[in-house]
Amino acid sequence: MDFIKLKVNVSSYDELVQLMMSCTKCKLYTTRRRVVPGEGPLDAKIMIIGEAPGEKEDEEGRPFVGAAGQLLTKLLNNVGIRRGDVYITNVVKCRPPNNRDPEPDEIEACKPYLVTQILMIKPRVIVCLGRHSAREVLTMAGYPEKAVSNISSIRGKVFNVRLGDVNVKVLPTYHPAAALYNPRLRSIIEDDLRKVRAILDEDKGGGDILSYL
Ligand code: SF4
Repeated sequence: MDFIKLKVNVSSYDELVQLMMSCTKCKLYTTRRRVVPGEGPLDAKIMIIGEAPGEKEDEEGRPFVGAAGQLLTKLLNNVGIRRGDVYITNVVKCRPPNNRDPEPDEIEACKPYLVTQILMIKPRVIVCLGRHSAREVLTMAGYPEKAVSNISSIRGKVFNVRLGDVNVKVLPTYHPAAALYNPRLRSIIEDDLRKVRAILDEDKGGGDILSYL
C-alpha cells in the first residue's frame, strides 16, 4: 500500500478537520454524537494514537478525556511529558457503539485522515496505544500483520520506520484503558513512555538513550 496515496487532498489542517467533522464514510457516523478529530500542537514531536473515542470523548468531541485519558495524562506527567505538547488522536474518529472494537471497514474508511495527520505533523515519535493502533501504524509502515498483531510481544520496542516522507520511531504500548482494570500495566506503560522521553532527550543531544533501547 502506498502511504502517500492515502493522503486526503486538503490545503490546511483546518480543512482536514472540517472534512472529518462532516464525514459519513463509514457506518459509525450514524451513531456518533460528535466526531473526535484529535488535538494538540501541529509541530508536536510526539503523536499518540489510540483506538477510538469512548463515551466521554463522543460527548465532548475531544480525545482521551475520560478515565483512561486522565490516567494517560498522569503517566505522561510522571515521565516529564506535558500532555499539551503532544498531538493525540485515534485510529477511528467516531465512537463505535458500546465501545466495541472498530471494524476493518471502519478502520479502512478512516485511515486517510490518520495518514494525513501524520504527514502534516511529522512527529519524531508515534506512541501506539493498544493493539489496533500498533497494527494499523506498523502495517502502514510495511510490517506483515502477523508480526505486529500481538501487543504483548511488541510493546516497548522501538520501530524505526518511514511513513511517506516522515522518518519516525514507533513505540507500541498498552492502552491506558486496560491499565484501569489492571494496575500492573501502569508501570509498564510508564516505562514505555520513559523511552519516548529518552528519544527526545537524545535528539537534543543529552540523555542516555542506550540504556532504554
Ligand atoms: S469513523 Fe472516520 S470514516 Fe467513519 S464516519 Fe467517522 S470520521 Fe468518517
